[in-house]
Amino acid sequence: MADLRSARAAAGYAPPRPDPSLPPVRINLHSDTQTRPTPAMKAAMMAAEVGDEQAGLDPTVWALCDRMAELLGKEAAVFLPSGTMCNVVATLVHCRPGDEILAHESAHILTSEHGAHAALGGFGILPLKGPRGQFDETALKAALRGRSRYAPPQTLLCVEQTANLGGGTIWPEARLDAVLSIAKEAGLATHMDGARLMNAVVATGIPAAEMARHCDSVWLDFTKGLGAPLGAVLAGSRAFIDEAWRWKQRLGGAMRQAGVCAAACLFALDHHVERLADDHANAAALARGLAQIEGVAVEPPETNLVFFDPSGAGMAGEDLCAALRRQGILMSVLAGRVRACTHLDVTAGMIEETLAAIRGILGR
Ligand SMILES: *Cc1c(COP(=O)(O)O)cnc(C)c1O
Repeated sequence: MADLRSARAAAGYAPPRPDPSLPPVRINLHSDTQTRPTPAMKAAMMAAEVGDEQAGLDPTVWALCDRMAELLGKEAAVFLPSGTMCNVVATLVHCRPGDEILAHESAHILTSEHGAHAALGGFGILPLKGPRGQFDETALKAALRGRSRYAPPQTLLCVEQTANLGGGTIWPEARLDAVLSIAKEAGLATHMDGARLMNAVVATGIPAAEMARHCDSVWLDFTKGLGAPLGAVLAGSRAFIDEAWRWKQRLGGAMRQAGVCAAACLFALDHHVERLADDHANAAALARGLAQIEGVAVEPPETNLVFFDPSGAGMAGEDLCAALRRQGILMSVLAGRVRACTHLDVTAGMIEETLAAIRGILGR
């Protein structure tokens, strides 16, 4: 045990501190989570009416939950510190130990939540395959096995809108409705990881409530492009949210004067949703510029995430990212590709600068 612990410590789970030998970051395309609250958002936070959230006494949190229940087309909603906690609380409400969740093999719940659903709930996740973070009716039907005394019960289908590692792709409404209906017919509950749901809404013009109408639970992250410092809201039926509160308390997600943060989320709903279209335009401009560089393979973006592979131009993604970082430009390597993410701190001018820097590094 001691050896295992030291091996794990050596792996370095704690995030590194900034490297002082590197120049400050000028252009941050690492993630839409790294935005700073704007002065106007901070002013809204300062002015928030607050109370003890655990005791139901924070009026700003109630205002946010009511507004989100309406936006997502559900009876009720609950404010949680993070999107990960929304996923964890949702599976804990929907499933029992030994149950199986169906999700795409690149889904956040499978790849990026440190085994929470297995560790905390005792749930397995059956990975479904398909291009760009999505599976179709055929893949789902093939995975559904019906009631069995031997196989684990399949109780929940999870879809990600937009599909992050799929390239920020948007599930077409027909496919989404089809897979969710099949799951329902098979007796499964349905859950939408809507971390970037508003990106899909702005890109398609389809309201969030319509996208999530066949989902028993759905959540939205306020720290992905919407610019809030923390917070996510999970919505569902009144009974679902009542159960969710049990897990919120148990996991330590019940808060106190959380209205300070809920005010930032309300501000984001008023001021930072429509502008997501600018992020999509900037992502498209970046992808167009990258595609013009010989040897760079670009996945056509549908929202604010641009995945590309520069190896055909003679440089590995890691090396390109390191060279960009030395010029104060931040990107990441994710699932074997470089990911650049546009958000409210990224301007069209920064995209031009970034393209010039990449052309320079690749010598094109
Ligand atoms: C970021 C993300 C999450 C987790 O949200 P946090 O607020 O970072 O905990 C879950 N699902 C998807 C698709 C994400 O992109």
